[in-house]
Amino acid sequence: MDRRHFLRGAGVAGLAGMAARASATSLALPAGPVPIRATPDRLFRVTVCLRAFRAAGPRIEAEEVGRKKVIHNYGHGGSGWSLSWGSAELAVGMAMANGAKEIAVIGAGAIGLTAALTAQLAGASVTIYTKEQFPNVRSARATGTWSPDSRIALEGAVDGGFGDRWEKMARTSFSTYQSYLGMEGDPVEWTDRYILTDTPMGEGRRRKETDRPEKFLHLEDRLADITPRSVELEPGSHPFRPQYARLNSSLTFNVADLARRLTQDFLIAGGRIVPMTFHSPSDLSRLREKVIINCTGYGARALWGDESIVPVRGQIAWLIPQPGAHYGVYYGTLSMLARRDGIVVQETGEDEWFGYNDANEEPDRAAADASVATLAQFWRS
Ligand SMILES: Cc1cc2nc3c(=O)[nH]c(=O)nc-3n(C[C@H](O)[C@H](O)[C@H](O)COP(=O)(O)OP(=O)(O)OC[C@H]3O[C@@H](n4cnc5c(N)ncnc54)[C@H](O)[C@@H]3O)c2cc1C
Repeated sequence: MDRRHFLRGAGVAGLAGMAARASATSLALPAGPVPIRATPDRLFRVTVCLRAFRAAGPRIEAEEVGRKKVIHNYGHGGSGWSLSWGSAELAVGMAMANGAKEIAVIGAGAIGLTAALTAQLAGASVTIYTKEQFPNVRSARATGTWSPDSRIALEGAVDGGFGDRWEKMARTSFSTYQSYLGMEGDPVEWTDRYILTDTPMGEGRRRKETDRPEKFLHLEDRLADITPRSVELEPGSHPFRPQYARLNSSLTFNVADLARRLTQDFLIAGGRIVPMTFHSPSDLSRLREKVIINCTGYGARALWGDESIVPVRGQIAWLIPQPGAHYGVYYGTLSMLARRDGIVVQETGEDEWFGYNDANEEPDRAAADASVATLAQFWRS
């Protein structure tokens, strides 16, 4: 079992590549990160989100429905924010291939907003039709980190071109998000990530084996040239209770501000958002546009009868944001990301099947309290 598996076993989405590219040097930091005030009274919200997972990866393809051309753009698992711009590029390319200039987008989550903006930039007039808008969409309940291969597909279930398509989507998104850095409200920023262990990385604890024959597909090594390397911190040089720590940097999406900015940019460019719920594909005949990009996320399961979508449940306990606390920590089965719009604390399970095929969207307060209590143990007293 290698270090990649160890990290994944710790429920650390997106960190496997970080450790694989770890630098040999170790670093003593002069000042540690601000400790998080992990007390029950600071827990202000508990949310649940369902990842729309498809073994074959996101569905980005065209379908004729009556006299409409529908471009599907859904099923991004735990990677929707990270892949959104690249996925939009593919979907919009298909939508506008025959010169269409009037585009309807269904859905106003991460995927719908980025598809709508991408179509506008390509010269289209765009209307979004949607049941819900931020903050009531599932995208608002995401962790908010760069995680382009988190529960994106299963090994052996994807077609031969998937890896290349995924890489292009990830690279396009990664570079587009860089243009959101340094903006008022910090919709996107680079922040530190601490990966903590009780034993030296690559030794000791191993991934808990499952008896499932399937394996999630991991492709992040393909992006090694554009993502930072991690450094090992000297034991005792950091404020955490576990002895061993690695430090890396990753993109954080401050989702509240990012969603507001995407929505505003869309409206300023002349876009319209129309509240509308579709109950079956035949409802699309109500739209005047002939070309429709379908960005309904987990909602596609009911609307399109797509039972290849499997819900993967994830719950977040939200702690009050703290000035100066802008970083993430991963230890054991818990992750914490201190964002500007809340400190998100998440139980990630012993393996990646945690929450798989669980469509329960009811928050579990007792589990949230337990996560916060565990987080409080991360720092040396
Ligand atoms: C706990 C958790 C943590 C996550 N963390 C990350 C992360 O850190 N980084 C990352 O990249 N990804 C993350 N993800 C994944 C990411 O959140 C999703 O891939 C992404 O939000 C999907 O966006 P979407 O626009 O497809 O779906 P949604 O946000 O669900 O939007 C769907 C839209 O379609 C509309 N709609 C649906 N059905 C209908 C209908 N019948 N009629 C009209 N409108 C309809 C909805 O109202 C909504 O506006 C996480 C997911 C979970 C569950």
